[in-house]
Amino acid sequence: MSTEHDGQRHVAGLWCGEVLQRLPDLVDGALSDAERAQVVAHVSACDWCERFGGAYSAVVAALPKTKVSAPDGLIERLRARLAALPAQD
Ligand SMILES: [Zn+2]
Repeated sequence: MSTEHDGQRHVAGLWCGEVLQRLPDLVDGALSDAERAQVVAHVSACDWCERFGGAYSAVVAALPKTKVSAPDGLIERLRARLAALPAQD
């Protein structure tokens, strides 16, 4: 079920504009699983967003399903570098 207002559609609990606002966070992996699922549900069901850009839903579909983690050893190297810094006092 969807509602229309000012050329936007309300699908899966989000307006098209809200989906656009969340897109950067979505790409950054900053959204919770629930928020990400909501955005994906909107885009897959909203033909306005489909028209807005054919690549739009493709971008969402191409997102990694899990958050990217730090490369192996990065945390350890940062810790070692911090430990090697001169004491502040
Ligand atoms: Zn939409």
